Amino acid sequence: MKRIAVLGATGSIGVSCQAVVRAHPDKLAIVGMTAHARWEDLAKACQEFRPLRAALSDESQRSQVPAGAFPRETILEFGPDAVARIAAMAEADIVLSGIVGAAGLRGTIAALEAGKPVALANKETLVVAGPLVMGLVNAPASAAVPPGTCPPRKLLPVDSEHNAVFQALECGRRQDVKRVILTASGGPFRTWPLEKIRTATREDALAHPTWNMGPKITVDSATMMNKALEVIEARWLFDLSADEIDVVVHPQSVVHSMVEYRDGSVLAQLSPPDMKLPIQYALTWPERWEGVSPRLDLTKSFGLHFEPPDLQRFPALALGFEVARRGGTCGAVLNAANEAAVDRFLKRELAFTDIARACRDILNAHSYSPSPTLEELLRLDAWAREEMFRWKCSP
Ligand code: NAD
Ligand code: MG
Repeated sequence: MKRIAVLGATGSIGVSCQAVVRAHPDKLAIVGMTAHARWEDLAKACQEFRPLRAALSDESQRSQVPAGAFPRETILEFGPDAVARIAAMAEADIVLSGIVGAAGLRGTIAALEAGKPVALANKETLVVAGPLVMGLVNAPASAAVPPGTCPPRKLLPVDSEHNAVFQALECGRRQDVKRVILTASGGPFRTWPLEKIRTATREDALAHPTWNMGPKITVDSATMMNKALEVIEARWLFDLSADEIDVVVHPQSVVHSMVEYRDGSVLAQLSPPDMKLPIQYALTWPERWEGVSPRLDLTKSFGLHFEPPDLQRFPALALGFEVARRGGTCGAVLNAANEAAVDRFLKRELAFTDIARACRDILNAHSYSPSPTLEELLRLDAWAREEMFRWKCSP
């Protein structure tokens, strides 16, 4: 039995993880669950999965939860510290990091520091603090690996593109990799002219053509900031240079990404767009279990289309390559500026095209440092959010 602590258990990733566990009750169990503010969703999930511990990171929920809402055997705590304690809990064999935004950093780091393998959906962790997090991941293991077994892996990518790359990398030697090609759906505005994109509303941006996800990542997909963050994520996760990463738009979201080897072979991973598959593989690696996601139906004819990204209409993507190249404090600043910009866009305070523009301004204005500490990164995260709340479109 593999015991999982699910951080962000009520979100889109968390609910998909619940479905994977539900499908394998003899092999998977949830021992810890966290959510932010919606105690009703967490209580319902706890009633089904009966974890040992649960946490609501929003302290103000303490006075909201009625007696008896949670199972008697589940210890319920409040606040961000409680999330970190669940990430490090002794009873968990693996932690699914499914909180959205830089708020997911603390739990991911707590899990890694406690020596837990992490199935990582929260890409912002690597965007903000890639070198520091990979330092924890690559620290020598405390126990020797028994002969004939796979060495444990401390970070297993859940993001579908990185999960696909991870699978394609298992087919060759690292030194033979020429480049990694991340696919992007192109989002709802893939075919829109720039003048129309300028008028895009909250509702337009939230209508993703292929994926059903939380609101922040859905807006990120529409700006293509999501792919920018994924370029940075791939840079740290697979130790690639920015020049070894390419992005191609693929609107069907069936080819989840590809690895090109030096001989010209391109290996891809294909499946219908459904996060249950990469979540399950991250939890079961190196084993493969019976899948719960829909399968490719090759008895019906369908086409796969690929086109180059348009950086003029989607300038956020260029920011990803720039930040992957510069490293240092850039990831933390870009990520925080983007989170705050998406927040303002969802509140209808910013126009859609202001998101990338404001992020560019704030990235340019920050005082860069090449190898910051975690404290410096967190300070810059707060600074970039403040700047974004004050940002006004210049005429
Ligand atoms: P979501 O908004 O649906 O869920 C977010 C979860 O985090 C919820 O459980 C929420 O309660 C919790 N949360 C929100 N704010 C928090 C805070 N301040 N502190 C602690 N917990 C908080 O988001 P999602 O779409 O599930 O995305 C989660 C992460 O996975 C993101 O980093 C996203 O980029 C990544 N991801 C998501 C998908 C997807 O299909 N949804 C795919 C790839 C990667
Ligand atoms: Mg992705």
